[in-house]
This record gives sequence, structure tokens and C-alpha cells, in this order.
Amino acid sequence: MKKLVLLGSTGSIGANTLQLVADFPDRFQVVGLTAGSNNDKLIAQIRRFRPRVAALADEAAADRLRRQCRSRRDLRDLKIEILSGTDGLIRVAASAEADMVVSAIVGSAGLAPTLAAIRARKPIALANKESLVMAGPIVCEEARRQGVAILPVDSEHSAIFQSMAGQRRTDVRRLILTASGGPLLDLPLSKRRTIKPAQALKHPTWRMGNKITIDSATLMNKGLEVIEARWLFDIAPDRIDVVIHRQSIVHSMVEYRDGSVIAQMGIPDMRGPLAYALNYPERLPLALPSLDLTKVKMLTFEAPDLKKFPCLGYAYEAVKTGGTMPAVLNAANEAAVRAYLEGRIGFLAIARVIRETMDGHIPQAAPGLDDVLEADRWGRERALKMIQ
Ligand code: NAD
Ligand code: MG
Repeated sequence: MKKLVLLGSTGSIGANTLQLVADFPDRFQVVGLTAGSNNDKLIAQIRRFRPRVAALADEAAADRLRRQCRSRRDLRDLKIEILSGTDGLIRVAASAEADMVVSAIVGSAGLAPTLAAIRARKPIALANKESLVMAGPIVCEEARRQGVAILPVDSEHSAIFQSMAGQRRTDVRRLILTASGGPLLDLPLSKRRTIKPAQALKHPTWRMGNKITIDSATLMNKGLEVIEARWLFDIAPDRIDVVIHRQSIVHSMVEYRDGSVIAQMGIPDMRGPLAYALNYPERLPLALPSLDLTKVKMLTFEAPDLKKFPCLGYAYEAVKTGGTMPAVLNAANEAAVRAYLEGRIGFLAIARVIRETMDGHIPQAAPGLDDVLEADRWGRERALKMIQ
């Protein structure tokens, strides 16, 4: 029985993880859950999975949940401790009884709890790519020092990880990340300015949280994934390529020095990569339909258009510049995507805000955690000023 702590349980990855726990009750048990502020969803999860501890980032929501746990008859007999704030998230992440931590908070808020879990020597199933974007060298060095495995949940990185099984890392020539292209792939540049969030949120192949879905529409998601791959697989960014692959069947590929390319395929369903990370190296018998390539018929690959998707180029630039620049890229993106979702800026302004924030930043080389957090704060503030 593997005891799991799930950070970000009320999100899309959180729901997929709990689906796996429900499907394999003799393999997984939930000992801790965390969420941002949505406590109705969290309550339903607490009742079903009975964790020993839960935390909400939002203090007021946590207070409400504590009162409900005392007063509601369906919750009163649960023996659960409710924590709150960043400290609460960190304490759940480092829970003594956990065998693995699923890191599925969205955005920079995932960094501190993920690091706390690593310091507590918990193997990590990592969905929160932003923590590696912001602080890749710090997170990876800590994992190395603690002897902790970081198992990728992101489908592309899981595909690369699977395509490297049994291979020698020194034989790798390049990584090829696939990107569906998101919902706006064929929309001409002239029509992108007026795209409303409702349209940009209609992803063709994946159902995900709002932030990552907008990141898919700008291709920033792929940019963040290039940075994630750079650190997860310790490979220079100029050996990581991106191709548009609309069908989301080939989840990514590894090219070896003899020219051989190994790809991992499957239907687009996050339970595949999640289950691989949770149960590595054993594969679980998932009730997913078989991939029928005769129905898919065609797999297509195209080069990404950096004029249409400047954010992808900005991410390459940020990781090549290094230091605090990726944290600033990430912070500006988070602020801009939020503003876009709230209707405060247009779609094309997302890239502009990121560009200008990066242009105003003097990167610091080899930053410590405090420097990264300061760069994150600076980037957010600078981006917000521009948005206003
Ligand atoms: P989501 O928005 O659906 O869920 C996010 C979760 O984080 C929720 O539980 C929310 O309550 C919590 N949260 C939000 N803000 C918080 C804060 N400030 N403090 C603490 N908790 C907070 O997001 P998602 O789509 O599940 O994505 C989660 C992470 O996984 C992201 O980093 C994303 O890039 C990555 N990812 C997601 C998918 C997917 O299929 N959804 C695929 C690959 C990678
Ligand atoms: Mg991905």
C-alpha cells in the first residue's frame, strides 16, 4: 500500500489522481490533501478518502472547513487535522507517513511545498512544472542530495522518461517534445487579438485547468516544458526541439546518437502518465481504451510558428539566459494569464507583458531560493504595473 499526499487535490490532475486511488484501493491510500480555496470540493474528497490531514492555502476557507468539521454530522467522526496557509501546505507536503507526494498545485505556489516534500525525502510525482521553471537547479540539487526521485507526470516528460528506459543517457542526441498546438493553432494572427477566454479555453485534445489551457493556447506551456525537460533530464536547451502534433498521440520522443528515435504513444488521458509515476516501474492495468491507429489514420508533425507563438521563443531565451530569468518569465506569464482570464487584457497582450517584463529584468546568475522568490515577486509586480 502506497500512502499518498496530494497537493492540489481539487484541480484537474488532483481529480485524475483520486480517480486512480479509487480504482486501485488496494494499492494507494490518501493520507494528506491540499487545495487553494475551494472547500466544497475538498470536503467531498475528505469524506470519500479520509485523509489524516488537509490544508487550504486560504486561511478563511480553512476556518470555514474547521467549523464544518466540528458541526456537520457527516464530518464530525472524521479524525482530521485542518491546516492553513503556506505553512500548512508545507506541513502536509512533509507528512511523516507519506510514501510519495503528488505535486499538482498550479503555478509558483507549488514551489515551496514541493521543496518541503523533497527535503522530507518523499519521492515526487511532479505535475507542477512551474517549480522546475523557477528553480530547476535548486530543486534538482536538493533531490540529488536527499536521494529523492522526481517522476514526471507531465505527459511529454513521462513519454521521454519512458523512451529512455533501458537506454544510456550519454547516447541521447536530442529530445523532441510534441505540442497539440492548442485551440487557436489555425487562427490567423489578425484574429488573435479579440479572442475571448471562453474560446481560448476550448482545448482540442486535453481537459485541464484554466491556467495551463491558456498556456497551451499561447504555446507558453510548451516553453515551460522545454525548461522542465532541461532540468529533469539534465540536457542543454538547444538539444530540445518542439514539433506541433495535432493528434496528441505521440506524447514525445527521444533521438539517440545512432539516429534512432524512440517515441511513446497512447490516447491522450492523464491517468496514463500519472499511473506510471505513481507506480513506477510497474505498470497498472488501466481501464483505458486501446489506441486504434487505424481510426487515428494520420499522425502529422509541423514546425511551430514563432511569429504566431512568441511565448515559446521567450521561454527558450529565458532558459538560455538562465539565473533568475526563467522565474521572471514564469511570474509575468502567471500575472498576464490571470489578467486575461479576468478580462483585463487581450490575448495578444499576454506575450507583450512577458516580453516587456523580461526586457526590464537584470538576471542574477546562480540564484539561491530567496533570490528566485524575489525575482518571482519582482516579475509579478512589474507585469501587474504594465497590465494596469
Ligand atoms: P487546476 O487549476 O485544475 O488545479 C490546481 C490546484 O492547485 C487546485 O487544487 C487548486 O485549489 C490549487 N491551488 C491553486 N492556487 C493555489 C495556491 N495559491 N496555493 C495552494 N494551492 C493552490 O490545475 P491543473 O490543470 O490540475 O494543473 C496543476 C499542475 O499540473 C500545473 O502546474 C500544470 O501545469 C500541471 N499539469 C497539468 C496537466 C493537466 O492535465 N491538467 C497536465 C500536465 C501538467
Ligand atoms: Mg504537458
